[in-house]
Amino acid sequence: MSGLEDLYREVILDHYRTPRNRGELPTPPAVRAQGHNPLCGDEITVYLDVEDGVVRDVKVGGQGCSISQSSASMMTQAVMGKPVDEVRRTVRRFKHMLSIDSAPGDQSDAGTGDDSGEEADLTELGDLQALQGVMKFPVRIKCATLAWNTLLDALSGDQQHPATTE
Ligand code: ZN
Repeated sequence: MSGLEDLYREVILDHYRTPRNRGELPTPPAVRAQGHNPLCGDEITVYLDVEDGVVRDVKVGGQGCSISQSSASMMTQAVMGKPVDEVRRTVRRFKHMLSIDSAPGDQSDAGTGDDSGEEADLTELGDLQALQGVMKFPVRIKCATLAWNTLLDALSGDQQHPATTE
């Protein structure tokens, strides 16, 4: 299916060349989290503005390879305007797609025991499916998940003490 792979490559390059929601947000009210993938040199900064349990705005900055940067761009589109619960579910789905949803450090809430549903929901990931190809290159998986792990950091930072300064 090289046709499909070409399509996926186009999607990734499109997000890399024209990143969505790139920039910064004032902190506070937004929470800022930084991620770094030393294996590849990728850097991602996520600015997350959550209000009443809903992602009101999200912006990313950073630099790195096409996988890390396009994944960050897709991430912003996937979570913008979404309830935090749904965002966490999308993160899990995305990692599940890359077969690493049981990665250490991911404090997943106790398993629901219903994995079959997750598979069927893959289509909801839209452009994110384009990143599925990276599972063939394990070293690239960290590139693809960097923005998502940084997003989780921002989410937990917000849930603790929003008013606390660093
Ligand atoms: Zn990378």
